[in-house]
Amino acid sequence: MPQEPSEKTIEKMRNFVANYCRKSGTRTHPDPEVTEAVIKGLASHTETLGRPLCPCRFYPDKQAEVQHRTWICACDDMQIYKYCHCLLFVDENGMPITEYLPEDHEGRKMYGVIKDPSPDLGRPLRDQAAQREIERRERPS
Ligand code: SF4
Repeated sequence: MPQEPSEKTIEKMRNFVANYCRKSGTRTHPDPEVTEAVIKGLASHTETLGRPLCPCRFYPDKQAEVQHRTWICACDDMQIYKYCHCLLFVDENGMPITEYLPEDHEGRKMYGVIKDPSPDLGRPLRDQAAQREIERRERPS
């Protein structure tokens, strides 16, 4: 059973999420239980691993994963494409932004095209999209 994170760490993650919403022009999910579950998962990883590793993925080796930047919140998908598969950072309808994703990305297949309501905000790593796409296509599926 994963250990329950402290209220202090949960509060830090809530602040991080509120700030990141402002910076990226996104909102948290309209169902507060979704948001709270993801925030608790991030807080738990912060306490056990030292970093807010995305709680919505399976990792064969969490410690090894922490060495990469890829799935530390805000993850590469968020910083490059503004796509949050945990539904933590979404639009006003609670939908993840998918318009910048490659067409064959799982997010596009699942949700179709969801437009970014704030195209001027967020995506600080947007310049890495082309390189990221090459790497993704080279990975064995
Ligand atoms: S998908 Fe990315 S941005 Fe969303 S909660 Fe997970 S790590 Fe954070």
